Amino acid sequence: MKKVDCTYCGNETELPFECNYCKDPFCSDHRLPEEHRCVKLSQIRAKRFGQKGVIREQKSGLLKKIFRRRKN
Ligand SMILES: [Zn+2]
Ligand SMILES: [Zn+2]
Repeated sequence: MKKVDCTYCGNETELPFECNYCKDPFCSDHRLPEEHRCVKLSQIRAKRFGQKGVIREQKSGLLKKIFRRRKN
C-alpha cells in the first residue's frame, strides 16, 4: 500500500484520515479540522454558531411566552 504524507505535519502514515471538509489526507493526530487548521474551519465554525443562534432564539421566545402567561 502506498504511504501518504500528512498534509499538516508531513509524517508518513499508512492509514491516512481524509478530512470531511478539505478532503486532504492527515495522520491520526491531525485528522480533525481543529488539529490541522483546516481551510474550511472558519466555514464550519460559522455553521455551528448559526445553529446555536437559532437554538438561543427559540429558547428566549419560549421564556417570553411563559413570562406573559404568568403576568396574566
Ligand atoms: Zn500529522
Ligand atoms: Zn480539513
